[in-house]
Amino acid sequence: MTVARPRVVIAGAGFGGLTCARGLKHAPVDVLLVDRNNYHLFTPLLYQVASALLEPSEIARPVRQLIRPLPNADFLQASITGVDFKGRRLLTDQDSIPYDYLVLATGAQSDNFGNASVADGSKPRAGRRTPSGDGRCSASRSSEEGRPASRWRGRSRN
Ligand SMILES: Cc1cc2nc3c(=O)[nH]c(=O)nc-3n(C[C@H](O)[C@H](O)[C@H](O)COP(=O)(O)OP(=O)(O)OC[C@H]3O[C@@H](n4cnc5c(N)ncnc54)[C@H](O)[C@@H]3O)c2cc1C
Repeated sequence: MTVARPRVVIAGAGFGGLTCARGLKHAPVDVLLVDRNNYHLFTPLLYQVASALLEPSEIARPVRQLIRPLPNADFLQASITGVDFKGRRLLTDQDSIPYDYLVLATGAQSDNFGNASVADGSKPRAGRRTPSGDGRCSASRSSEEGRPASRWRGRSRN
């Protein structure tokens, strides 16, 4: 008889999410990374792209490529819309994903301290809110690809 391993769902494949997935590489768990983008953005070099020293593709690497060395990790491209904490499911614009452990690593919102001119010139904020206390967060564009591997798909009830 096969015993199901604990399912760790990591919301966000930024620095925090990827580091967490790598840290679980040898743990007896199944990991699913979820992000609305299919790439990981290396923000420290955004300035070099803005000043045309680098190509955008040089600071954005496919998440699937980055997690290839992790035998227990999969990736789903989806926009996270909330969390059903009671039912232990991450809600997305595609499936609702069951979890045993949930890691919220969806980043932070910029604070412009009420200065509209700063807000206008800064990084876009749309869809970057972290799930709030009521379990909802902003939805963003739907994804074009990125179904999870079959072992995850089978577990979603929708
Ligand atoms: C221009 C710039 C330069 C920086 N330079 C440095 C530096 O030199 N050194 C340094 O230490 N830090 C730097 N930082 C800060 C650093 O980028 C952040 O501290 C770091 O990215 C935070 O990591 P995180 O995992 O919390 O969030 P992020 O790296 O922002 O990752 C969050 C992930 O969650 C995903 N996500 C968010 N909401 C949703 C949703 N609803 N559905 C699906 N996916 C979602 C996003 O797509 C993203 O991939 C810089 C930031 C910027 C903007």
